[in-house]
Amino acid sequence: MKKIAVYPGSFDPITNGHIDIITRALRMFDELIVLVAYNPVKTSLFTVEERMVLIRDVLGRDEQRLHVDCSAGLLVDYVRSRGANVILRGLRAVSDFEYEFQMALINRRLNRDVETVFLMTGYQWFYTSSNLIKEAASLGGSVEGLVPDAVLARLQAKYNHQK
Ligand code: ADP
Repeated sequence: MKKIAVYPGSFDPITNGHIDIITRALRMFDELIVLVAYNPVKTSLFTVEERMVLIRDVLGRDEQRLHVDCSAGLLVDYVRSRGANVILRGLRAVSDFEYEFQMALINRRLNRDVETVFLMTGYQWFYTSSNLIKEAASLGGSVEGLVPDAVLARLQAKYNHQK
């Protein structure tokens, strides 16, 4: 049986921290689905479509085992609909832990066949979050090295446009 994992998140936008988790997960699973999980009433900087295109652009289109998708529905239902049974999440600081613990427990209650697997962040990406990156970039700070070049360019374009 194929080991398929789903890596859900906002990815608004994708950062080097996310990429680290994805690259490592591809060594553990046969297939990985990066899922832009969105809430239609929440505001985001990039549209769902823009986020998916950026993920595909920076991860390359050659890796056949990697898929990019989006969903606004119940995560465990999505996971089962794709024939997967693992939710992949990344952990940074202890502050991530409490929320992630709660999410893992509710998802397990919703479907006991689905397991949540955590990977510790690479130490370089400990403080890298999409929110901090957006905040720094919006104020003109350099986030070079924390996001891929394609994302850097898109962030600069967005914020220049908004000025
Ligand atoms: P963020 O918290 O940066 O806004 P997402 O909501 O897109 O990111 O997060 C999706 C998943 O990726 C979560 O499990 C989150 O903990 C993880 N993640 C985000 N940034 C990093 C990072 N720098 N290192 C490891 N995991 C991360």
